[in-house]
Amino acid sequence: MARGLLGRLAYGSRYDRVPWGQRVYVRPGERLIREAQWRLLLRQRPVLPLAAYQRLRPLGEIEEFLSCMMCGESRQQPLFTPAGGAPGSRGWRYHVVRCPSCGFLYRNPNVRPERLGDLYATGYSTFLTGKYAANRQRRYDLTMKSFAPVFDEGKERQLLDFGSGVGLFLELAERRGFDAYGVDLSPESVEQANQRLSKARTYFGAPGDVPEIAAGGFDVITLWSVLAHLPRPLEDFRLFRRLLAPGGVLLILTVNARSLLLKAYGAGWSGFTKNHLMFYSSETVRTLLGRSGFAGVAFAPHYGDTIEAGTTKLPPGLVTRLRRNVEQSDGGNMMRVLAFADEEAIGRWGGGPLTVHRLHA
Ligand SMILES: [Zn+2]
Repeated sequence: MARGLLGRLAYGSRYDRVPWGQRVYVRPGERLIREAQWRLLLRQRPVLPLAAYQRLRPLGEIEEFLSCMMCGESRQQPLFTPAGGAPGSRGWRYHVVRCPSCGFLYRNPNVRPERLGDLYATGYSTFLTGKYAANRQRRYDLTMKSFAPVFDEGKERQLLDFGSGVGLFLELAERRGFDAYGVDLSPESVEQANQRLSKARTYFGAPGDVPEIAAGGFDVITLWSVLAHLPRPLEDFRLFRRLLAPGGVLLILTVNARSLLLKAYGAGWSGFTKNHLMFYSSETVRTLLGRSGFAGVAFAPHYGDTIEAGTTKLPPGLVTRLRRNVEQSDGGNMMRVLAFADEEAIGRWGGGPLTVHRLHA
């Protein structure tokens, strides 16, 4: 309420028709204000030893306390308590802390890996249909375009979609000529995916448990909105690195913990969804990739699906301003990452508009 009022005082009604997710990128000066607000928040919030932090928080039956998985720091800086849920339902709530050493944001307490299934009630797969499915596939197409030419033609290259759900991405991948495989932990989703797909195949289980997947040799691995759900990201990424063939690449789409929208809306940020466990930025994802043996990484800015698809109703002047602010600040509300397994991969795919950052273990 107070925030809306301040916005009204500062900007009048000029930006009322701009969707919420775009306002922070188009209102003059707002980017600098939000970044200053964020720095102030980080200065004000206390940093606690893990033991002191644990005394503040009750521990749920399926939960555990963590130290920072990226750098090992155990001290905690409590930042946000996102909450949600449909009216009348029991709802959800969790605590997000920041690592005072490397800036990693994560849920703490977190969910014990063996109890992850408790987060995903049955029926999880059924809402991934209709308009939602079309929007998803548009998002996949736009992201593949931003990493051209990696995804332009499959040419029988082997692709693994990790967390393949009902197969919406695999459908696009097989159409482009990839020899495509998927794995997912929801048996219902795997069954639906295999009905949808003609040549691509999905399997139920963890990659290491499925012989067809564990054999490795993949040219491409994709993680569409999966990274934030992983309770043991380093173990998973070391496995992904082993499953990649020489010259292979890994694509990640995830919520961006450097987003201006997070700085503006805090606990109300769209990235704090019920089942997200960890929140990466371009800095912390570099740590994850370096520690799991990748040689390089490149980022493609995310301007928003309607802007990139050309269906936005924003006037051209505001589109230009939005693009500039995304490039000069956070890279967008979603983070698009292409990781290169080795020097061969950098040589093959690292050209064009992509800037490759070399990683060191
Ligand atoms: Zn850390």
